[in-house]
Amino acid sequence: LVRAVNVSKSFGENEVLKGVDMTVDRREVVCLLGPSGSGKTTFLRLINQMETLTGGRIWVGDELIGFVERNGRLHVRKDKDIARQRSRIGMVFQRFNLFPHMTALENVMEAPVHVKRMQRAKARQEALELLEQVGLSDRARYYPAQLSGGQQQRVAIARALAMRPELMLFDEPTSALDPELVGEVLGVMRSLAKEGTTMIVVTHEVGFAREVADRVVFMDGGVVVEEGSPDEVLLRPREARTRTFLSRVK
Ligand code: ATP
Repeated sequence: LVRAVNVSKSFGENEVLKGVDMTVDRREVVCLLGPSGSGKTTFLRLINQMETLTGGRIWVGDELIGFVERNGRLHVRKDKDIARQRSRIGMVFQRFNLFPHMTALENVMEAPVHVKRMQRAKARQEALELLEQVGLSDRARYYPAQLSGGQQQRVAIARALAMRPELMLFDEPTSALDPELVGEVLGVMRSLAKEGTTMIVVTHEVGFAREVADRVVFMDGGVVVEEGSPDEVLLRPREARTRTFLSRVK
């Protein structure tokens, strides 16, 4: 579903990604691990076109991200193409970024109604089902400020799912949570993975990666250092940099 080839990204002089190759198959869960600053967030933001590539190519499905090919030449995509491509991808961020003036239900309904032009009644029905799926049926009418961090993050997951994305991107979704709230969010993610959702998860939760990932990718300094099954990378890492990182986060 996702194919990244020789992806690079610089911010001015700072080369954050230096030729990353990665593929993610449909129904696969890939956990992306690595020290702070290794470029994990930037990689997700490139897939979702919140940043533009400096070099390389990313395909999602059969679509080249950010560009359109016409007469054998590549042209930068227009905003409307970008919006359409983005609607195939759901993203959950580190910080809960719900609309504060909308209830949980309204947050989940927002994109289907405004982007997909779905009828409000249908959007509402689907949003209620999604809130049930993340265990928040009884919180539909609450505003974000009235919800715990874990509940807000589960609403954020429901909101991302509301567009029925082909791919879900998670950027350290539990790192801003109090420890006792981490489990409920990982639980929702675990069940999404079991249902066959295609997911890329940036996380420091090694236990989650071991249990849920089909594949673990370890990044450092803007490159993929190693990748493999959770057991290979997390229990028997080949690279010294991976071992050092794991000894710090475990
Ligand atoms: P973390 O775990 O801390 O989120 P990360 O591996 O996700 O780390 P990134 O957030 O991708 O790393 O950041 C990699 C580098 O890119 C950092 O040095 C950061 O300062 C730089 N960077 C990220 N976004 C921008 C930006 N918009 N402008 C300039 N530099 C940026």
